[in-house]
Amino acid sequence: LVSRENHPDRSTVTVRGVPIGPDTVTLIAGPCAVETTQQTLEAALMAKAAGATLLRGGAFKPRTSPYAFQGLGEAGLRILADVRERTGLPIVTEVVDAHDVALVASYADMLQVGTRNAQNFALLQAVGAAGKPVMLKRGMTATIEEWLMAAEYVAQRGNLDIVLCERGIRTYEPATRNTLDISAVPVVQRLSHLPVIVDPSHSGGRRDLVLPLTRAAVAVGADGVIIDVHPHPEQALCDGPQALVDGDLDRLAAIMRDFPPLV
Ligand code: PEP
Repeated sequence: LVSRENHPDRSTVTVRGVPIGPDTVTLIAGPCAVETTQQTLEAALMAKAAGATLLRGGAFKPRTSPYAFQGLGEAGLRILADVRERTGLPIVTEVVDAHDVALVASYADMLQVGTRNAQNFALLQAVGAAGKPVMLKRGMTATIEEWLMAAEYVAQRGNLDIVLCERGIRTYEPATRNTLDISAVPVVQRLSHLPVIVDPSHSGGRRDLVLPLTRAAVAVGADGVIIDVHPHPEQALCDGPQALVDGDLDRLAAIMRDFPPLV
């Protein structure tokens, strides 16, 4: 279903009127985690100023440590809905458990499945049946074949509104949090008709790498990027060191402007 064999034209996925696909480079930005209304609103306004047309923000956070901030849950979803109302930005947010899909889908415009759940087949089937566009991150140890098969689980439930997100993979190299597999973008675009975006924040894991990796992503032809921004990253409850700050936004906007889509 997701292969280009029977579907030669590349697809565009529309999220509440915002296209992600071959004719555009979509910027999705926002806080890694929803912490407060004020923080989410400030981050959303930063995102919008940089040209973002979709707001990201996690209310359910899949943290490596059980002692780390796990997200605000439904209270976080309510904040996202409020900020959508105030900024006009549709929201992309993660669902980590099949039991929460209906709840998250009742607020979200796009459901995100993260790297840790990329082969949670029950979750993939549940999001496939939820009637909302899905962003499927690549599993941190998944081959491209495994990633596409995960997308197939979503598609099999009748939902072809799937955007694939390369977010770095585990390699032997510890200098970055994950190794961004930039070649996955054109490889997957040739194998699948689905849009492919890149997450430069979770791949590099460091603020100073986010703009260079964004440049690489758009240069190689990604259909979009998803980027963490935070008004006060030193106080962030999740992934502050990778969040862009106000001073980075002009350069982010310039990168997005200067690289037209590679058709
Ligand atoms: C995220 O985008 O909030 C996230 C946790 O990303 P990943 O699943 O790629 O680690």
